[in-house]
Amino acid sequence: MPRRIDSEPLAEPGAPTAAATLAPADAAAAGPAAQPGILLLDDDPFMLSVHSLMLRGMGLQRIVTALRGEDALQSLQSDLQAVDVIVCDLNMPGMDGIEFLQAVDASPYRGSVILLSGEGTRIMHTVQKLLGGGRLQILGALEKPARPAAMQALLERWKPVTAAHGQTPAPVYACEDIHAAVREQQWVLHYQPKVNLRSGALAGVEALVRWQHPLHGLVYPDRFIGLAEDCGAIDALTDWVLRESTRQLTRWQREGLPMPIAMAVNVSMENLRQPGFSRRLGALMREAGVPPQDMTLEITESRLMAPSPAPLESLVRLRLQRFGLSIDDFGTGHSSLAQLRDVPFTELKVDRGFVQGASGNPIIRPMLEASIGIAKRLGMQSVAEGVETAEDWQLLREIGCDLAQGYFIARPMASDRLAAWLDDWRGHSRRLLAPP
Ligand code: C2E
Ligand code: MG
Ligand code: MG
Repeated sequence: MPRRIDSEPLAEPGAPTAAATLAPADAAAAGPAAQPGILLLDDDPFMLSVHSLMLRGMGLQRIVTALRGEDALQSLQSDLQAVDVIVCDLNMPGMDGIEFLQAVDASPYRGSVILLSGEGTRIMHTVQKLLGGGRLQILGALEKPARPAAMQALLERWKPVTAAHGQTPAPVYACEDIHAAVREQQWVLHYQPKVNLRSGALAGVEALVRWQHPLHGLVYPDRFIGLAEDCGAIDALTDWVLRESTRQLTRWQREGLPMPIAMAVNVSMENLRQPGFSRRLGALMREAGVPPQDMTLEITESRLMAPSPAPLESLVRLRLQRFGLSIDDFGTGHSSLAQLRDVPFTELKVDRGFVQGASGNPIIRPMLEASIGIAKRLGMQSVAEGVETAEDWQLLREIGCDLAQGYFIARPMASDRLAAWLDDWRGHSRRLLAPP
């Protein structure tokens, strides 16, 4: 891994990941005293004893077993503190695993769950999704009979939840807060590099806005972009982002960073609805002395679904001016292919949900390959976001994705960190790309 010189915290608020929230090191650091209590539920007595013996073999002592969902619920009710991880079979007569876990989700239990099934990966994937939206922490799913190493790996993801109990709820903001932030320009941009997967070269950066709140510190965009849209403040915010990011390009140029650095900014659907948006952006670029082809506008396609033609009109005008247009979070909306068909995008950014862990996942890997194949055939640049591991990186190289962005390369960072990161990355990427 490259030396960490970025300014954002390791577990970035608003962007939790399995790797960030379930780091095995955390569980290990908790020590043996923090061993999880296990509730093992399976209607097959043989499987129950196999798994129970296996868990004991791993040194776990607090194990409760049940053959029926009803009994497991009763155990939970009688001593909630005794259970930290539920290891649960899905296919059971009577109350099945899904019904059981829905009941658990509605109960005060706030621990973790490991799913067990002989039903194959596709079913488990769906069940994981189904339950992942609730309050239970799904550590993962295992085919029956579970292999000790796989069980161990999932258990290492478990983290005692005690710290969460003391947390104060995140503040909720109102329109007047956002308008005050606009007036006082309480924004700061962090930049995350995109690098070429073949050469390792820096291909550009994405500007990501943060709110430097006078009382709460750095607030991440998931907590205020929607509000800025609803409160009519998004135009002023986007203007600020565009001005600041183009100014930053000039500053980096003065400092001797290799130019041109392609800049990407996120543009909201609300921006695209404004009649004069494309003209204003053109004027802004001329003012800054940056050619539009050095600027890519990233658009989250789930927001592109509005029926009005205004966004399409803006997009086509922007493209005529030679702005790059990127379809962000590709694969997560309802009509990704329809958007690709209708909008002259130049870049396809595959959502991290199709990138992370793809090398070992027979469901998402074909989707990643297909997305990159579509980009190629349409003559678009492909970018994978959320690249967190060497395995993700290697797979993307193998399947011919153009650019990568993610914590494996760099976290978003303050502008003055880019030069040092680049120095560091040059050495690291040389080693990464060297033939074995
Ligand atoms: P996005 O455009 O898809 O940006 C990528 C997000 O993923 C960023 O979160 C980034 O910090 C995070 N990320 C990058 N690499 C990794 C990784 O390896 N793992 C994980 N788990 N996360 C990674 P951030 O900065 O919190 O931004 C969230 C979203 O807020 C952005 O998603 C974008 O849609 C929106 N946003 C950010 N800045 C602006 C802005 O200036 N204007 C508008 N309208 N939206 C913005
Ligand atoms: Mg983006
Ligand atoms: Mg994205």
